[in-house]
Amino acid sequence: MHEEAATSLQSQQIDRPTPAPSADGKTGKTLFIQTYGCQMNVYDSERMADVLRPLGYSPVDKPDNANLVVLNTCHIREKATEKVYSEIGRLKAHKDLMAQNGTKMTIAIAGCVAQAEGEEIMRRAPAVDLVVGPQAYHKLPELIARAARASGERLETSFEADEKFDALPTLRAPDGPSAFLSVQEGCDKFCTFCVVPYTRGAEYSRPVDPIILEARGLAQQGVREITLLGQNVNAYHGQGPTLAGSETWSLAQLVRHLAKIGGIERIRYTTSHPCDMSDDLIEAHGEVKELMPYLHLPVQSGSNKILKAMNRKHSVESYLDTIAKVRKARPDIALASDFIVGFPGETEQDFEDTMELVRAVGYAGAYSFKYSKRPGTPASEMYGQVASEVADDRLQRLQALILEQQRAFNAAKVGETFDVLFTGKGRNEGQILGRSPWLQSVHVAGPEHLIGQIQSVRIIGTMPNSLTGELVTAS
Ligand code: SAM
Ligand code: SF4
Repeated sequence: MHEEAATSLQSQQIDRPTPAPSADGKTGKTLFIQTYGCQMNVYDSERMADVLRPLGYSPVDKPDNANLVVLNTCHIREKATEKVYSEIGRLKAHKDLMAQNGTKMTIAIAGCVAQAEGEEIMRRAPAVDLVVGPQAYHKLPELIARAARASGERLETSFEADEKFDALPTLRAPDGPSAFLSVQEGCDKFCTFCVVPYTRGAEYSRPVDPIILEARGLAQQGVREITLLGQNVNAYHGQGPTLAGSETWSLAQLVRHLAKIGGIERIRYTTSHPCDMSDDLIEAHGEVKELMPYLHLPVQSGSNKILKAMNRKHSVESYLDTIAKVRKARPDIALASDFIVGFPGETEQDFEDTMELVRAVGYAGAYSFKYSKRPGTPASEMYGQVASEVADDRLQRLQALILEQQRAFNAAKVGETFDVLFTGKGRNEGQILGRSPWLQSVHVAGPEHLIGQIQSVRIIGTMPNSLTGELVTAS
């Protein structure tokens, strides 16, 4: 889950405005949500809009004159955090202008920067009216009321994920046939470079019943593809029903169950940790036709020395072993990964080992990042910090290799015919955009009424990050 994607097949939703609830003529209140970072933030932004809908907020696609602006922030890398402060500065100018015209703009900071630096934000940026962490956004109505009264606590960063999920409205307003569904949050793995365990809290799995309910609701509203989300989604272990009572369900059990819901034709999950890639999940890839042949399995480095320093708890060998098992279960599976270059102590040989691993696996796409020093994490105090120019150079070399593999993966699809789920309009007039089973974007000339449907498409060409095709059958 990433901000600076190098090359990837995944259609990441980065820095995008989240559609707010439908207009309420009575209140005239407007909402703008800016989302930074990973898919979990995209999901959270959609849920914030759900929470705010009963308050009568209507969507706007610019922050300029919005009554409520929410910045849903990402803290994973330093650059992501810096963006927030510069955006607050820009918003303050709009806020002042609106105040001159007698209208109020409320500025809310949500997400992981809010969690990590809430007090600092309140102190440094008086234009900010309220701060809400990723496990507390169900309390937005309360916080907005306090901000309006200018009294009471306006910083809410409690960590109770279960409380949040219980409080969120059951009904969602999906904005297309593909939707995210959060099933797991937080992380107990403490990789030495990562802030997630501190900003998202301990690992928590939602119980099965509300997940099924949410999925059914989405299916009833036309959703055909669900992507199950979690920081370590394959560590999912939620309480689920059995004939005898209840027991802990694995992600594989959950997937098999979701696959039976009428209307749900595609299931994906992200992001996974190599240590949690259990045999039952691997088997599901070979057996559940709704489970799409795509696996994002971050490895971070191809050097065992670096993996150990990262506290990844897996080795290059165990990772390759897992990949081999997954490929045996589902030979056509597309593999993706995350890489960090320039981790403290990384030598040229360590980096070469990473390049070697990439060559050995052959990815359909991957995200690669330059190591970013995060205050409070063990790696930030390690010896052997790598010079910025060295890391830049390695990043470029790695990205070139990944791009080459991605292009080869796409080119191999030319001439094939497969199902595409159409998710929206294409870039050009008369074009619609869809998604292949392997998460590639597919551009096709076709009528808009096919959006939301799965149709057979013959691939006729490739573009740098997508495929072009023609409809084989159309209803
Ligand atoms: N839980 C997933 C895993 O362990 O693979 C990844 C979640 S993390 C939010 C997404 C990605 O951000 C990581 O896989 C890693 O590549 C990258 N990342 C995290 N911390 C970073 C840092 N300090 N510097 C650079 N990249 C980082
Ligand atoms: Fe961060 Fe590691 Fe947890 Fe992934 S497994 S969220 S990289 S600490």
